Parts: sequence; structure tokens; C-alpha cells
Amino acid sequence: MAGRVTDVRFTLLGTGTSSGIPVIACDCATCASDDPRDRRTRVGAMLEFTDPDGNPRTVLVDCPPDHREHALRHRIRRVDAILFTHAHVDHVFGLDDARLYNVSMKAPVHLYAERTVLDDLSRIYDHIFRPDRNVNKSFVADVVAHEIEPGRPVALFGVEATPVRLLHGALPIVGWRFDAPGSSAAHGTAANLPLAYCTDVNVIPDESWPRLEGLDTLVLDMLRERAHPTHFSLSESLAAAARTGARRTVVTHMTHDVRHAELAARLPAGVELGFDGLRL
Ligand SMILES: [Zn+2]
Ligand SMILES: [Zn+2]
Ligand SMILES: [Zn+2]
Repeated sequence: MAGRVTDVRFTLLGTGTSSGIPVIACDCATCASDDPRDRRTRVGAMLEFTDPDGNPRTVLVDCPPDHREHALRHRIRRVDAILFTHAHVDHVFGLDDARLYNVSMKAPVHLYAERTVLDDLSRIYDHIFRPDRNVNKSFVADVVAHEIEPGRPVALFGVEATPVRLLHGALPIVGWRFDAPGSSAAHGTAANLPLAYCTDVNVIPDESWPRLEGLDTLVLDMLRERAHPTHFSLSESLAAAARTGARRTVVTHMTHDVRHAELAARLPAGVELGFDGLRL
């Protein structure tokens, strides 16, 4: 596909940590807040664009348990591909709903993940990956699994999606970098690209820093201000954002320790708190 992609939009569908905010049975100030930005569903994101042939395309990053709510809020009608970061529950437990896109698109949904994640998905979703074993013939998702490797770009309808190795505590996972070769902000076609989405990370390995250079937009993990063994804290996230030199950084995967209005007022220039529905 030569031409350019146009109308690139990247939406933060969910920006909360694994519990979602409000947290069940919690009465803290954030959970009781009436600021809609303090209501955070589980993390997921959506890249929408028009491909060089003029077709609308939708690519999701992860498919959290709140995906159904995201789809209804944003009137998602098609999903061409789902790119996975890792197989934790808060990132994959919405995949069953892919079957509704099979109906609306009359086509399978393509999944891109590392081998270990594909293995986890097929174990969790035995009914999807081994439909021959279902007792009754059931309405299950039609998916096509593709194995990815860090550093090897995936071509998606004119967008190049590159998995970037990240560490989530001891677990190696991937972030995703999006480029639109041939398109640029100068053309007004891809103003927010290159964009990288790096959630669930507490260490960026040496080999990955070069893959995070030249970014317009960085979406980055920031669990809370206190340290955590598997996620960036505020100070760690700010340091990583500064090291990449991204023009704009938006943080995500926040706990109820983060009160949006309070923390947003204290962030340095170029860094913002994400919130559900934020369109970049
Ligand atoms: Zn709370
Ligand atoms: Zn995780
Ligand atoms: Zn997570």
C-alpha cells in the first residue's frame, strides 16, 4: 500500500489500574469523587485511521474486562486487529466480545501477541481456540492469531506497529510504537504519530530506548506516587518521559491514590494525566 494514512486518532478507552476506579467497597476521596476523570475503567486504547485505500480501520491495544463498555461508549463498529501487551486479566478479559465484531464486520479479528501471550489466551479461551471441544455448537469469536517479536514491525493497513520490549517486574511484556511511513504532521495527516503506548512497565531495557526516540506522543504507565515493584511511580514515569524526549506524554493505569484535579495541577509542562475517553 503506497499512499498515506489519514484521520489518525488515538483514544484512551480506559486509564485505571486492574481494580478499576472506583474500587469495590472503597470510600476514599477519589472513589467518592464526582469528577468524571476520577472514574477509570481498566486500561485499553484504540487507534483509528483511514488507510491509503480510503477504508476506515480500528486497532485496539489490549482488550480489558471493560471492553464492552468502551465499545458502547465509543460506538465501535469494527476491530481490524487487537495488539496485546501481556496476558494479565485486566488486559485480556474482554476478548470474548470479539465475536460481536465478527457479526458486524463479517470477518475474523486478527490478534497480535508474543508466543507466551498467545499460549495464555488459548488456555483462558479454550472455547475460542479449541471450538471442536465445545459440548454444544456455540457462538464463539472467530480470531486469527499472529505471533510477534519485539523490534519486528507489524504492517497494519499503512501503519507500522512495532512491539517494544518492556519489563513489568520480572515479566517481559511489550509496548507498541505506531508510525505512519510517508505521513507526517507536516501533511496534517498523522499529527500525533509517532506515538508509543507503554503501559505496565517499571523498567525500559537498554535495547528499547532507541525505539522510543523521535516520538510525538508517549502514553506511559504511572500507577501512583508511591513506588511499586511492577509499575512506574510518578517520579519514575516523569524521568522516563523526559529521557525519551517525547513532545507530549500522557500517563495511564492509575490507582485511586491519584485524584485527577489535584495531581494534574502539579505536573511539569508536556506531561498530562490521561482519563477515560481522552482523544489524542
Ligand atoms: Zn478508593
Ligand atoms: Zn499487568
Ligand atoms: Zn495492567
